[in-house]
Amino acid sequence: MSKTGKLFSHRDPYDTAATDALFVAAMRENCAFHSAHDPAYKKILGDAGFSPEQLQTSADLARLPVIPTLYFKRHTLLSVPERSLTVKVTSSGTGGKRSLVGFDIKTLWRELKMALAIARFHHLWSGKPTRYVIFGYRPAKNQLGAAKSAFAFTLLAPAVSRVYALETGPDGVRADLGRLKEKLVKYAKGRLPVRTMGFPAYTYFLLRQMKEEGIAVKLPKGSMICLGGGWKQFYAERVEKEDFYKLAEEVLGVDEKHIVEFFGAVEHPILYTDCRAHHFHVPVYGRVVIRDVDTLEPVGYGKAGLVNLLTPAINSMPLLSVLTDDIGVLHEGPCPCGCRSPYLELLGRTGVKDIVTCAQGAEEFLKGDKA
Ligand SMILES: [Zn+2]
Repeated sequence: MSKTGKLFSHRDPYDTAATDALFVAAMRENCAFHSAHDPAYKKILGDAGFSPEQLQTSADLARLPVIPTLYFKRHTLLSVPERSLTVKVTSSGTGGKRSLVGFDIKTLWRELKMALAIARFHHLWSGKPTRYVIFGYRPAKNQLGAAKSAFAFTLLAPAVSRVYALETGPDGVRADLGRLKEKLVKYAKGRLPVRTMGFPAYTYFLLRQMKEEGIAVKLPKGSMICLGGGWKQFYAERVEKEDFYKLAEEVLGVDEKHIVEFFGAVEHPILYTDCRAHHFHVPVYGRVVIRDVDTLEPVGYGKAGLVNLLTPAINSMPLLSVLTDDIGVLHEGPCPCGCRSPYLELLGRTGVKDIVTCAQGAEEFLKGDKA
């Protein structure tokens, strides 16, 4: 079995300390593969004076040349023929630019193993028929990554029904939160558990609207609120997690223990799931390096900087070390949940252009809602 295969078969998805050496070996293997199969990547390494053999210990990981996510919005790097890309996803592209990322069957197999292990660890599997309320896009052809992961999420418990907030029509994206509100109120009278999934901003907007209208229901036992896809252009609207949990309990009767948040990126398809203390622990499949915004030097634990995400998961593209435009802090722990892997705290985004002010964001949301 390859080193990467071994890493993705590791039993405990958060045992990062025990998998450090294996992780480095898998990165070396993946780096050598891409260097041999993608001339453009080979050139990137060559220009930086880096060769795959230089990856020997955990300390070497930060020396691997990073590729900014912005780069993938302009270039497509491929290490396999395009016809072997089974799945193509695009990022939702703040500011109109989208990146195309493609995965082959080898990559998808690793992704599946990871998803199964993470879902098992966080008790996300359920045999109970469930109603899904998706604060996101209805899956369509030429899908966005977010729509794909939202749909995959509805496979964790048998779906009785699925309702979506965002529809892509001839006039662009339309948000219909009113329909979701009606459904939530209706489902609260039933017995089947409800799972909501999707963008935190939309979930928050609807909860706030329901509160303003004096609506307070109790969703059936076993219901969950799941958040994923980040705050996107609504970073200015970001609320304190505690306020969000309070609002969810007040309006939908779902307690904090049943609110789960996910984090990932199209260019780094590793599943970060928050623990019961609501921390994004780094799973064995990835590593995180925080870098100084100006010098790009690693800053270590406890200091804010640019989030650099590493994984050997992808066979089809050299996505070994991507530099996001997110600002975050890596914490060493310990965490009250008992998990010993470090955890990532996301603080926001760079790129002022991407940040729509609170008022604008709310206005856009209302426009969509009325359309
Ligand atoms: Zn934790």
